[in-house]
Amino acid sequence: MKALVGANLIDGTGAPVVNDTTLLIDGERIVAVGPQAAVELPPNTEIINVKGYTLLPGLIDCHDHLASKGYELSDRWGLTEPVSLQHLRTAKVLEQTLAAGYTCVRDGAWLDVGFKQAVEEGLYPGPRLVLSVAIISPTGGLGDHVCGAGHHKPWGDNPLLPPGVANGVDGVRAKVREMVRVGADVIKFATTGGASSRQGHGPKDIAFGADEVKALITEARALGRKTMCHALGGPGLRMAIEQGAGSIEHGCYLSEDPDLLKMMADQNTFFVPTFEIYEFHSTVSAPHMVERAKALMRVHEESMHQALAAGVKVVPGTDAGGYVHGDNAREIELLVERGMSTMQAIQAATGWAAECVGLQDDIGTLTPGKLADLLVVDGDPVRDIGVLRDQKRFKLVMKGGDDFVNNIAAPALQPVG
Ligand SMILES: [Zn+2]
Repeated sequence: MKALVGANLIDGTGAPVVNDTTLLIDGERIVAVGPQAAVELPPNTEIINVKGYTLLPGLIDCHDHLASKGYELSDRWGLTEPVSLQHLRTAKVLEQTLAAGYTCVRDGAWLDVGFKQAVEEGLYPGPRLVLSVAIISPTGGLGDHVCGAGHHKPWGDNPLLPPGVANGVDGVRAKVREMVRVGADVIKFATTGGASSRQGHGPKDIAFGADEVKALITEARALGRKTMCHALGGPGLRMAIEQGAGSIEHGCYLSEDPDLLKMMADQNTFFVPTFEIYEFHSTVSAPHMVERAKALMRVHEESMHQALAAGVKVVPGTDAGGYVHGDNAREIELLVERGMSTMQAIQAATGWAAECVGLQDDIGTLTPGKLADLLVVDGDPVRDIGVLRDQKRFKLVMKGGDDFVNNIAAPALQPVG
């Protein structure tokens, strides 16, 4: 066994910091945690001295695109580089993201199951992965790849992955089954356009009918999958919530329909605002995307305030992929900049996020029985949330009891007693 001794503990449940703790790990799981005096160490426990540092659960990104590298159409369509090189870049992104303290990522499309298998086999380091594989939408929707000139690309970034387009109740049910067949852990779908979607399919334009969304969610549930729905505003957003989507991705215009927030709170629908991507789009994307992103920023922030007031769990998702990878904690900082308390933002990125991605029995809080996915930092993120972005301060990143980052002096052995 091994024990982290002396840290100030943030356990991910929202409870206040406990100073001077011990966390005992047996293999990949936590067996005991609490004030030092309350945790007895078995003989020959490896002691890791983390006195004065902060210990918190490994961070969770509820919406990433690990395999995406930019918004340039030629990159998005995979036209500029051989597939092998693209895959190696993606592997590097997995490693970078784990080094950023992210021990779990829910991928919002285009990462295939081979990456997850490689991580689980220990072939390559990366976060635990919850995959959606592709975005399901109708013809002309978010998952349908068309360019401004009218060219159409029927497959996703990887020609071996199923395309996301499905129409009609039967088509949608079959598509859900197809996604599960290729390894989807969660079913991603889109009921509106977005900031980065084609001209003519904007943030409040609806995609799918209620019968299709109902069939999709019913089929996903039958196969034991949660759902995540890209929806920004208007009737498509309402439809997704009314039909019971597991999480709303982006949800920028939620505050325009406050009754939806109550519905989300009642049915425990998570809200993943993804502020980071709009910060990006509002400055550097194509003109129609800049315009859309600027238009929604204030209402988006208001949506978060109202969601929290209504009791909706708001969790961080970066929507990384179009821009830099490995700075995922910027999203946690943005949650704080837009009005969350630091402790609430940490809970959002750990305990709540684990619930959102469906892994709450195994990760998200540092409590006995959970996997030892954790982060030790030199600094106090409750006082300065920016500490979570500063990898120079990272002392330990551990996943399932194994160190990935370890900048701590060599451990001592507890004498046999
Ligand atoms: Zn996304």
